Amino acid sequence: MSEDSQWQKIPSVDRILTNPALEEVLTRFGSARTTSFVRRILEQQRKKLRQDSDYEVPDPDIIVKQVASELASQEPTGLTRVFNLTGTVLHTNLGRALLPQSAIDAVSSVAGNACNLEFDIPSGTRGDREQHLEALLLELTGAEAVTIVNNNAAALLLCLNTLALNQEVCVSRGELVEIGDSFRIPEIMSRSGCHLVEVGATNRTHLEDYASAITRQTALIMKVHTSNYEIKGFTSAVSSQDLSHLAHHHELPLLVDLGSGTLVDLAKFGLPGEPTVREVLLSGADLVTFSGDKLLGGPQAGVIVGTKAHLSTIKKNPLKRALRPDKMTIAALTEVLLLYRNPDQLKTKLPTIRHLTRSLEEIDQTAEELLASFSQALQGHATVTKRKSFSQAGSGALPLDKLPTIAIEISPISASDSALQQIAGAFRQLPRAVIGRLQNGKLMFDLRTLDDIEGLKQELQHLLL
Ligand SMILES: *Cc1c(COP(=O)(O)O)cnc(C)c1O
Repeated sequence: MSEDSQWQKIPSVDRILTNPALEEVLTRFGSARTTSFVRRILEQQRKKLRQDSDYEVPDPDIIVKQVASELASQEPTGLTRVFNLTGTVLHTNLGRALLPQSAIDAVSSVAGNACNLEFDIPSGTRGDREQHLEALLLELTGAEAVTIVNNNAAALLLCLNTLALNQEVCVSRGELVEIGDSFRIPEIMSRSGCHLVEVGATNRTHLEDYASAITRQTALIMKVHTSNYEIKGFTSAVSSQDLSHLAHHHELPLLVDLGSGTLVDLAKFGLPGEPTVREVLLSGADLVTFSGDKLLGGPQAGVIVGTKAHLSTIKKNPLKRALRPDKMTIAALTEVLLLYRNPDQLKTKLPTIRHLTRSLEEIDQTAEELLASFSQALQGHATVTKRKSFSQAGSGALPLDKLPTIAIEISPISASDSALQQIAGAFRQLPRAVIGRLQNGKLMFDLRTLDDIEGLKQELQHLLL
């Protein structure tokens, strides 16, 4: 065909827009976006023809298909579920704790309906969004008072800003930790408007060090549970009990940032012991902060428990309004706390505890059930074996304690890094991405956190190598 007739073959914008096959696209993406996209695609056709006189303009139907598929491919995917087989139970990048079913139901119920968030149904008067949680948290921690914010970082910010604005806060040098990307105790302290007074040395801090750091400017003594690392060897730290005596002698409050914070004795489940929130309060801490989505196994939230006097000041800080949790967080956290009233059910009903305590036999059985599906999916590309390995709690919880586990180990037949990366990439490109961990030139899939065996088998059938 001549170049001229090719030019005539380029359809008008209207002709594409009125094509019946585009109807669905128009409804989904709206006429403004679709029209500008059609213009762009037609302009591309003109450009191609200008550059190459032999270029053949496709039929309008093909152009319509191109518009539809390119518009769809430009849609952001948003949050999407994945398989976390990294071996890190509380993986911050993968959304930390998985909610129990009761919490999922509660979230979905309040998400799409009006609810009594700040409304007292019996009296028909204004209510308090925290009252739904307050009694439960007081019962489970033994605290006098409580407040909830968006995460533990917010809990610290609020405590420090309320109790120590423009004043000094004493913290051990061994506890000036960085947690994750951008959360460092010294930085949160300066943003809270406080002056950090470093106490002792990195590896050893004694009670006298705190005593000599206290001045008339001191507002608070703070102890940070160094949950994501431990200094080994010649070390010494001061207990919260000794610190609380010192603080109270100087009429200062003691704030303990527990980080992960647990409400039950984890040793009961065969896990490494961590001080419970109740124990830390009993040791004399005036305020304790902890996360909702670490060992507690709930939604992202920060909890502050402590004395009535301190919490009533904290709740009056205008920042509280900026940091308050939403209805879905409150609904989920309430359900999670309800499970803690009967700790015997945690091992079955709370995913975080269930995954942390899953027996080696059960994990091994899961691996046995999946070996064949993995081998089949990777045939000709990699060898697949079962391997003993270690999982970890993650998010700074129980940092030094490795949990024995069983993983599926993938070794590429061509033992190159690019082959390994290609296989790991193929698992990530599955409709529901499967995320493992790279270790010593192998790709490991830890089965401790796998609940949906059948779902994973289905995905493996779609693996493209
Ligand atoms: C995780 C952690 C935090 C931050 O908690 P988020 O809920 O993630 O904001 C603060 N302090 C310590 C000791 C932690 O381990």
